[in-house]
Amino acid sequence: MLRWQQAQGKRHALDGLPPRPGESFETLCGQVVEVVRADIPELGGQWFAWTCRECDAVWRRRENIPQFVS
Ligand SMILES: [Zn+2]
Repeated sequence: MLRWQQAQGKRHALDGLPPRPGESFETLCGQVVEVVRADIPELGGQWFAWTCRECDAVWRRRENIPQFVS
């Protein structure tokens, strides 16, 4: 299942289970990033980071959603 997850300053997307603090995951844009407690809303974190445009584009391709046009 696709989901958004903030990590290392960007809101990336991943396909899988939500990572826990200290874990890393592979983003849809092909990076491996580590999650800290402040990245988890359920643990009091808040999402301030920009959405990763590459992850957004991959997500849209997978789900057949029209691409975002700025
Ligand atoms: Zn990304």
